[in-house]
Amino acid sequence: MGIRARLMNFFVNSLATWQFQSILNKESKFSSHKNVIKSNKESPERFDIVLEGVKHYSRLPITSFRTMRVMPSNIKNIKRSLTTIDQNPVVSKKTITDEQLQAFENYAKSLGISSIGYIKLPRKLIFKDKAVLHENVIILSMEMDRDKIEKAPSSETAYMIMQTYDDLGKTSNRLTTFLRQEGFSVQAGHPLGGLVLYPPLAELAGIGYHGRHGLIITPENGPRVRLTAIYTSIENLPIAQGNPHEWIAHFCQTCGRCIRKCPGFAIQEEPTLHENGLLTHITNEYCFPVFLDYHGCSVCIKECPFSRMEYNKLKTQFDNRTLNPEMI
Ligand code: SF4
Ligand code: SF4
Repeated sequence: MGIRARLMNFFVNSLATWQFQSILNKESKFSSHKNVIKSNKESPERFDIVLEGVKHYSRLPITSFRTMRVMPSNIKNIKRSLTTIDQNPVVSKKTITDEQLQAFENYAKSLGISSIGYIKLPRKLIFKDKAVLHENVIILSMEMDRDKIEKAPSSETAYMIMQTYDDLGKTSNRLTTFLRQEGFSVQAGHPLGGLVLYPPLAELAGIGYHGRHGLIITPENGPRVRLTAIYTSIENLPIAQGNPHEWIAHFCQTCGRCIRKCPGFAIQEEPTLHENGLLTHITNEYCFPVFLDYHGCSVCIKECPFSRMEYNKLKTQFDNRTLNPEMI
């Protein structure tokens, strides 16, 4: 690496560390408040991707200048999700009408949200030492571009992913403003470094089911999604009852394509079941170096049949036993 590149690397690393450290401080301050829902002793530690990259490998998981340019907007919207909590009404509403919920969903869809689920938050899904404002959760998914995922790993894919993080982060903030104006208390989550573990929450909310790569597979876009959440005072959300996508677990047992195609050999044959009931599918120490070296990798998303074929078509073929995942 030349001296200019090294200086640039040092400057960007220092700036990102400083910015993310300021986010951590804001999160800590928020967690120390009295009337918040805190993590419990079963809660997992958050893997802070940017700080881990700088700490252990002296570089960011950002491989092009274009991708780097989206980072400030992401940081701004993470901070905004924390600072706008002060704008909540002093006395908040707790009941939403069918018409208000429909208007919210229509607005969310108009902003590019692909699927919406509702669930009560189990405290063990809040990351260790983090907290949120309410236990009523609206979980949201946004599609990542199919053609760009097909190019993974590439700088084009990495840019699109970072842009999707940013679009979803902004959307989450816009949707909280919408609900706040209706009189509800709300807190936006952000897809980059959220306060809770999103995939199991999305699964509980019934918007998809986890694959062997550990990512949520949704009927609309397979694993080509990013997730975020909104925490709200609304007590009468239509909470999911059961999950219609459990058949994906059986499909995965006949497939295993992500495990075979992972360049870091990071996806475990069998997930690790932790004492708190949570599953780990990926060995971070194997995935992360590849993730850093190859534009955020994302090969596991690209190779999953659900990224390429329609959900219903796969289900029909699976039910009729006429599917060979190797042929997809
Ligand atoms: S991102 Fe790449 S290295 Fe990491 S689990 Fe997915 S395919 Fe494997
Ligand atoms: S690639 Fe196959 S095994 Fe892996 S998550 Fe997708 S469907 Fe499941």
